[in-house]
Amino acid sequence: MQVIRITPRGYCYGVVDAMTMVRRAAQDPAMARPIHVLGLIVHNRHAVAELDKWGVIHLDGQDRLSLLDQVTSGTVIFTAHGVSPAVKERARKRGLNVVDATCPDVTRTHDLIGQLVEDGFAIIYIGKKGHPEPEGAMGEAPPGRVQLVETEDDLADLVIPAQSPVAIVTQTTLSRWDTAALIDRLQQKFPQAQVHNEICMATQLRQEAAVTQAEQCDLVIVVGDERSNNSNRLVQVVQEVAHRPAYLVGTAADIDPGWLIGQKTVGVTAGSSTPSQLTRQVIEFLEAYQPDPVPVA
Ligand code: SF4
Repeated sequence: MQVIRITPRGYCYGVVDAMTMVRRAAQDPAMARPIHVLGLIVHNRHAVAELDKWGVIHLDGQDRLSLLDQVTSGTVIFTAHGVSPAVKERARKRGLNVVDATCPDVTRTHDLIGQLVEDGFAIIYIGKKGHPEPEGAMGEAPPGRVQLVETEDDLADLVIPAQSPVAIVTQTTLSRWDTAALIDRLQQKFPQAQVHNEICMATQLRQEAAVTQAEQCDLVIVVGDERSNNSNRLVQVVQEVAHRPAYLVGTAADIDPGWLIGQKTVGVTAGSSTPSQLTRQVIEFLEAYQPDPVPVA
């Protein structure tokens, strides 16, 4: 079948840098052992498994502070999603060797939140509950100073002190279409609120490409891990903005032949944490795929 390779797709610079830092640490004989990664370096189990072969230990689950309790010596690597100052402080107190792979775009959001706190703002952070990026970013402020909003249902729970200036900040891997409605609602509630769109350029370019190029496709396959927020957002924008069917697959083996029946052109894109060989395999599979001819009645 005809395959449109949606471009840009796949690894962003933040992920490439983080993975390079882990590989370099693992190959450096002078690096203090054991080497732990606090969380998954990227949200892709294949990429993580590749790095584990180098002898690094990925700690998964819970929040970063609790995970850090499992690290008593050696090196700890902070992931591209960033960590709170409390995590950095505890690692320092423990005497751990630290490799910080936080993406510069995430660091910029941390700095922004720090500045907004200093300037006296109540901060509303639009992000995904349970994701490590909001955990790190919100940790830049005293407890209660940043309130997390994921859906419109959360708006009713907001408590903003009277007279307090309000700032709205977004997570880097959301979609601008998704956040637009929430920001709109928030601006109705807080007309003077400052809005800081922190969706990173890599995320934005991949989403815009997926929406534009999906117009030439009957359906779109997104290669990415189910835990990858930016991969899930790619599926969402193709479905909701480009109005095309879209499916998330981890590998070519996840493609359901039923999706391809009667389709001529399929677009392929990938989340910014997806190894390119997985995307290549999906493209090769689809290019070689010959759907069964539809029987003539
Ligand atoms: S998706 Fe954006 S914020 Fe996340 S690592 Fe990549 S460039 Fe950085």
